[in-house]
Amino acid sequence: MSTDSDDSPVGRRAIAAGNASAAIERPRVRPAAGHGLGSRPLPPLSLYVHVPWCVRKCPYCDFNSHQAVGELPEDDYLAALQADLEQALPLIWGRQVISVFIGGGTPSLLSAKAVDTMLTSFRACLNLLPDAEVTLEANPGTAEAGRFLDYAASGVTRLSLGVQSFNDQALQALGRIHDARQARAAIDMAQKAVDHVNLDLMYALPGQTLEGCREDLQAAMSFQTGHLSLYHLTLEPNTVFAKYPPPLPDDDLAAAMHEYIIEATAAQGWQQYEVSAYARPGHRCLHNQNYWTFGDYLGLGPGAHGKLSFHDRILRQARHRNPQSWIERSLRRDGSQIAEERTLVPQELPFEFMLNALRLRDGVDAGLFTAHTGLGITAILPVLKSLEERGLLSLQAGRLRATDLGWRYLNDVMEEFLD
Ligand code: SF4
Repeated sequence: MSTDSDDSPVGRRAIAAGNASAAIERPRVRPAAGHGLGSRPLPPLSLYVHVPWCVRKCPYCDFNSHQAVGELPEDDYLAALQADLEQALPLIWGRQVISVFIGGGTPSLLSAKAVDTMLTSFRACLNLLPDAEVTLEANPGTAEAGRFLDYAASGVTRLSLGVQSFNDQALQALGRIHDARQARAAIDMAQKAVDHVNLDLMYALPGQTLEGCREDLQAAMSFQTGHLSLYHLTLEPNTVFAKYPPPLPDDDLAAAMHEYIIEATAAQGWQQYEVSAYARPGHRCLHNQNYWTFGDYLGLGPGAHGKLSFHDRILRQARHRNPQSWIERSLRRDGSQIAEERTLVPQELPFEFMLNALRLRDGVDAGLFTAHTGLGITAILPVLKSLEERGLLSLQAGRLRATDLGWRYLNDVMEEFLD
């Protein structure tokens, strides 16, 4: 559902923690010893849950999403999720969980009972904070008022709607299952159910004009939800659009749309706090902020990614992507649902940290680098100084922040930390 994309130098993804991979390739693993946080407190922990099914596959989508055939195997999925969680417990024992993100795929295909079972189990097995942010991604084509209210009654505090556009032609070109009327109705239902609603919207759509982009954005802002995620449609490998590209706006027009978005959102009091994320005060997404600041997250479900810190190492995990294979493996309870697991080496940590931290408009407290990587800031001081001298990075008031120039060339700035 999260189609998070942008055409900034950063690349296209600002996905929910745990869902798929980032736009920039990570450095190859080097054969060196691992590195942990020593005696420092462990960073905040979030939970990502992947629901892999959709009504049908959108032609631009490269997420781990699969067209549902017949009834969803909800019982098997929930049993496998429970088994996946229980096998992960020794890795996170005693830690507080600050947020849950149920992403996909289309999690709103799950019944209210399934979401309730899931959240009840998380509360029983985890130290989930009473005021934890709990987001569920929903497709307007699967929205039901009663179901949204039930999700909220079970503990969902935030709904993220994959609206993408309010233009029926554009929605058809994107292969979406909903139309503009359904999108408006879903927003209304979501706002009645929870206080925090995000709308995903894309621009630079097939055949879109600047006026069309303006109409979409103004429509999205008119609902006064707390959060907007505004992404540039990009052609991803192994998608239908990559094979049969639709007519897309050229780079100049797409840049004009991006500029318009930045100006129009600012004019109406929206804060762009990350490359693709805009919020009104009090509505920033806690879960994604934890991810962007190199916090920890456990990823459960097919294809989910996780990152977990320990005193002696920082671990990345990825689950098997195929839903049936993940279900079968998870139920075996032998750890075989985990397809990849590796310890990050110290050389990787600066890039891993900066990859997302620099996407934040206000940057991060410099102390967070040490708190979340276990490395002293001296490890990257020469790079920081060099970037500062070139006007790409600001180090004022103890914060690391890309300057306006650095923001324009964010990929290049991040790559400086690769070595
Ligand atoms: S609804 Fe479309 S874009 Fe969203 S995950 Fe499913 S296939 Fe991908």
